[in-house]
Amino acid sequence: MQDKLIELKRRLSEVDDLSSAAALLAWDQQTHMPPGGAEARGRQMATLQRLAHEKFTDEKIGYLLEELQRAGAGWAYDSDEASLLRVTQRQYTQATQVPASFVSEIVNHGSIAFNAWTTARAASDFAAIRPLLEKTLELSLRYADYFPGHAEPIDPFIDNSDYGMNAATVGLLFEQLREELVPLVRAIGEQPLANDEVLRRGYPEAAQIAFGEEVIRQLGYDFNRGRQDKTFHPFATKFSVNDVRITTRLDEKYLSEGLLGSVHEAGHAMYEQGVDQALEATPLASGTSAGVHESQSRLWENLVGRSRNFWIHFFPALQATFPDQLSDVSLETFYRAINRVEPSLIRVEADEVTYNLHVMLRFDLERALLNGELAVADLPAAWNARMESDLGLTPPDDRDGVLQDVHWFDGLIGGGFQGYTLGNVMSAQFFAAAQSAHPEIPDQIRVGSFDTLRGWLTENIYRHGTKFTASELVERATGGPLTIEPYMAYLTGKYGELYGL
Ligand code: ZN
Repeated sequence: MQDKLIELKRRLSEVDDLSSAAALLAWDQQTHMPPGGAEARGRQMATLQRLAHEKFTDEKIGYLLEELQRAGAGWAYDSDEASLLRVTQRQYTQATQVPASFVSEIVNHGSIAFNAWTTARAASDFAAIRPLLEKTLELSLRYADYFPGHAEPIDPFIDNSDYGMNAATVGLLFEQLREELVPLVRAIGEQPLANDEVLRRGYPEAAQIAFGEEVIRQLGYDFNRGRQDKTFHPFATKFSVNDVRITTRLDEKYLSEGLLGSVHEAGHAMYEQGVDQALEATPLASGTSAGVHESQSRLWENLVGRSRNFWIHFFPALQATFPDQLSDVSLETFYRAINRVEPSLIRVEADEVTYNLHVMLRFDLERALLNGELAVADLPAAWNARMESDLGLTPPDDRDGVLQDVHWFDGLIGGGFQGYTLGNVMSAQFFAAAQSAHPEIPDQIRVGSFDTLRGWLTENIYRHGTKFTASELVERATGGPLTIEPYMAYLTGKYGELYGL
């Protein structure tokens, strides 16, 4: 049996080599590649991804999984061996369920729809993209049909990014959250708007980068196993547990974008750097779901990086770096500026309180489209009605409304949004559990010590990689199922104090 396990790992390691090479090419494409390289790069990445897919879906892997699972009944559920078989089997089933010809149909349609979307968005012309979006919906329903046994067509899409959850559980959680968030946003909106002028005083890029890198080094991002480069749409990417890179975008006219953006990506990267070395080059060596991944970026960005304690430690150094801009600014003024809440039209620019309303709107609309309860033709009106009821705003046009995100326009509809809000909800539950195990954490943050918090996260989340589903991980790490209570307690506590509610 040992031989078969070694053989399986050898094959999986080759798959990982090919997909990591493709990921490195993608990283280069978005950081350093000259524009002329675009065409060849697209071809090179497609070849590597195809080879990785072929190697992974090789029926030899299916046989090995079958034989090992038959023989391996004695392995404990959380052992490396049982987890490897369980997770690889799940991914193998997903990868082999959909015929290759249908996958290329989706990819082809996706690139046509994406190009049409960039034009339609610029012209704010929903009618131009509508027939393509109807086709996307049809393809999405056909895709879902390859996964029989689901209660709703969106469930297989949720499985792809947040395995183990489904429309019913996510929908219920979101309903509870929305009921509490809408009145909170309304109450904050009745108070005077926080002033964030201090963030817009002009902050030279080089000094921003140096300061941001010092911050994430102190948080625990390991530059011996990572690096930071500039890009247009920031992301974190992993080629190995020992090479996890982040990217950032800086705005000299708006300090918090680059600084807290780096903290966000470092949160994703510390998760990947914290995976147990023994899992390297297997399907176990990465974050377990979109939601859990986002919980780690949001925990560091918001619960830590937008906290008063964090800035009690870092603000003097920030003032010393930017004396012309900040010497006359108090810690309190700065803290209020980086926690300004204001309903806005654009999801990616939203603050941490209103952000979830943008996500839940999209989740509910895509669920309704897939369930046949909403026609594509009625989507813009449904979007605008929900913006009005939840955020009190009406988009002036579809560009700043239904056409703003790429998610529905590059292939399929479904499953791309819920992870963001699941992540926010989880971040507070994890942070509360870490604090109840180590009540000294807030005092430590105030003096710039993050080891206890990062140690708890490593022990309870990072090191496990994909061994456990999100629900299992939440249960094991916090002692109970996912619930909105810690998150709402965090928001009402923090913003109640900030806005005198
Ligand atoms: Zn993120």
